[in-house]
Amino acid sequence: MTDKQKARAARLPHLRRIDMMKGDPVPLPLTMAAMYHLPGDPAGVRQYGRFDNPTWDAVERMLSVLEDAPSIAFPSGMAAIAAVFFSLLKGGDKVLLPSDGYYTTRTLADRFLKPQGVKFIQRATANYMSGGFEGYKMVFIETPANPGLDVCDIADVAGAAHRAGAMVVADNTTMTPFGQRPLELGVDVLVAADTKAPNGHSDVLFGHVASRNAVIMSEIADWRRLSGSIPGPFEAWLVHRSLETLELRFDRMCSSAATVAERLAAHPKVKSVRFPGLATDPAHKIAARQMDRFGFLIGVTFATELDAESFINGCESIQPATSFGGVHTSAERRARWGDNVAAGFVRLSIGCEPVEELWAAMENALKKVR
Ligand SMILES: *Cc1c(COP(=O)(O)O)cnc(C)c1O
Repeated sequence: MTDKQKARAARLPHLRRIDMMKGDPVPLPLTMAAMYHLPGDPAGVRQYGRFDNPTWDAVERMLSVLEDAPSIAFPSGMAAIAAVFFSLLKGGDKVLLPSDGYYTTRTLADRFLKPQGVKFIQRATANYMSGGFEGYKMVFIETPANPGLDVCDIADVAGAAHRAGAMVVADNTTMTPFGQRPLELGVDVLVAADTKAPNGHSDVLFGHVASRNAVIMSEIADWRRLSGSIPGPFEAWLVHRSLETLELRFDRMCSSAATVAERLAAHPKVKSVRFPGLATDPAHKIAARQMDRFGFLIGVTFATELDAESFINGCESIQPATSFGGVHTSAERRARWGDNVAAGFVRLSIGCEPVEELWAAMENALKKVR
């Protein structure tokens, strides 16, 4: 971890201290409020639960320190992505989307933005730099892309897209701010699903938008206030609590993933492995340049669907589940949702279990694979 990342991690648990009065609770109080006491002139104070909430403020303050940029919280990752699309695009705009990224982003675009006259073009993440960015209003990237884990060079894409006059948006869900810092690499807007590693306990959906562009953030804030796409205070409280351990969990998850990826890659029952940290991975060169860590997601391809299912369901330390980033190692075959991957492709999300015990359970499951 870089010194700057360590400084952020050290600051995070103490952010609230500066405002504390003697006798205040050290943990964040949860404020459930639709109404605020509001006699007379309503200006300058909290007014209504759709506009403002002290628990959101606390979690947004943490996210802003993590991102080193103003951040606005949303009730899910998709709510954050929808806020970006609906507040920053209009009919006639052209948008570039990754063909191999999170599928709901493309479905949302297709189902609700396309009929409004927004044009969406798709390109594979690994080829993002070929074809140029001329005529695009927005270039949307996701690197490493979920689920295939291909990468693009964030600084190169941001530079070329800006020269062509496009705004650049990055979905940083697979990496978190401790793994990769797209805003520092030139991206204008960052979106993320805090449902994944930032919350990390598989019990909350949450998301955020971060940007250093004040005009963009004012649009995003208006979108949330007017559309009502607001996070629940209790969810915000849980994410606030979870962010206090993000660095600790993420560090363990990434270290374990590196160990597990190497062993899986060398295992005779496994056909192939994608992990940006492997020196042989096609994404490694770019990943090493722009990622602080290589993440906790591993793409594992088995010869058949049956082998993949046998590995997932036969391992007592793997939770068969969709989504990722939890303290429990989890996995699923992405072809079951129609992703454009091999039938035997498994997206494996490494959790916080001690790595040797986790590997022993996996090795055991691999023995049972045909
Ligand atoms: C999960 C995910 C999302 C959506 O997040 P939700 O909280 O489920 O709405 C967006 N982008 C990526 C890359 C994801 O993995």
